[in-house]
Amino acid sequence: MYLKSIEVHGFKSFANKINFEFHDGITAIVGPNGSGKSNVGDAVRWVLGEQSAKQLRGSKMEDVIFSGTETRKPMGYAYVAITLDNSDHKLPIEYEEVTVARRVYRSGESEYLINGGSCRLRDVQELFLDTGIGKEGYSIIGQGQIDKILSGKPEDRRELFDEAAGIVKFKKRKSSAEKNLEEERQNLCRINDILSEIE
Ligand code: ATP
Repeated sequence: MYLKSIEVHGFKSFANKINFEFHDGITAIVGPNGSGKSNVGDAVRWVLGEQSAKQLRGSKMEDVIFSGTETRKPMGYAYVAITLDNSDHKLPIEYEEVTVARRVYRSGESEYLINGGSCRLRDVQELFLDTGIGKEGYSIIGQGQIDKILSGKPEDRRELFDEAAGIVKFKKRKSSAEKNLEEERQNLCRINDILSEIE
């Protein structure tokens, strides 16, 4: 699996629709300070479901939408799509190529898409679980992140190893099953209460 392209339109400094294509080997993005290099990484974080404006170096989610310049009007929405080669089927989906997209409007309305079909944030998160690519993954290492990992709490470091070991999805399923079990226990208690009232 590898990243084939990133399409951005109206996201941060990218007012025009731009398509970054990645080929074999290493790609470096270079440019003057403030030209938008880090915004490319932010675009990938965002499309993978980042919910924190702070993580995207903004103060509110609307800050990801192109805010205009002296010569150009602000945009009404931000759109990012990443396309991954999935010929090794590391992503649990039958397609050889997977495009994940996210769009947000100034009104706050937003949508996620997987291969053009509308989906929930949860579907995007589940698609990337245990691949290292998700929002909590380690495929994007930001400035200062290595220091944070090294000096962080052991539990936080453990999350990183869980992701690499591919056990996050099992932990998530376990906690969801435990939650359901607890709800059923409560339901049983209520039924027993009602039964004892009737008897
Ligand atoms: P450096 O080399 O200094 O780290 P960089 O090339 O990584 O810089 P970025 O931090 O990616 O640059 O981009 C910053 C630029 O993006 C700034 O010029 C800022 O005005 C612009 N920018 C950020 N958000 C928006 C937005 N919503 N609308 C328009 N421009 C934006």
